[in-house]
Amino acid sequence: MLHEKIANQRRDFLHKKARYLVDHYDAIGIEDISVKAMAKRKKGGKFSFGKSVADNGWNMFTNILEYKLAWQGKQLVKVDKWYPSSQLCHVCGFQNDATKDLSVREWDCPKCGSHHNRDKNAAINIREEARRISA
Ligand SMILES: [Zn+2]
Repeated sequence: MLHEKIANQRRDFLHKKARYLVDHYDAIGIEDISVKAMAKRKKGGKFSFGKSVADNGWNMFTNILEYKLAWQGKQLVKVDKWYPSSQLCHVCGFQNDATKDLSVREWDCPKCGSHHNRDKNAAINIREEARRISA
């Protein structure tokens, strides 16, 4: 019963989040990550967040997002999971292999010197790539 209640609350939360995004944006770009692949990598000991991505219902969320967008004639743009969003400097485009190490949360671009927050930089790259794909 408790499990069912939590599942319902979670679904309700995802619907509200999706509703907000669909109301505020004309298109949404996401990284098409494979939860399965991430869970696999976790077995190898590298990824620690593979399971939490699955637990958070990322697939459920993107499905909800996709059909709510479609209802309004809007688009969900999926950026290929191999696109190196975390490695590219969004300012100059330099690819910094050092950021493959997931513990690198902030970094300075060796080429242009820009300082980056890992997640923010990746999000900007995903936005730009989504724009490029949907153009
Ligand atoms: Zn740079």
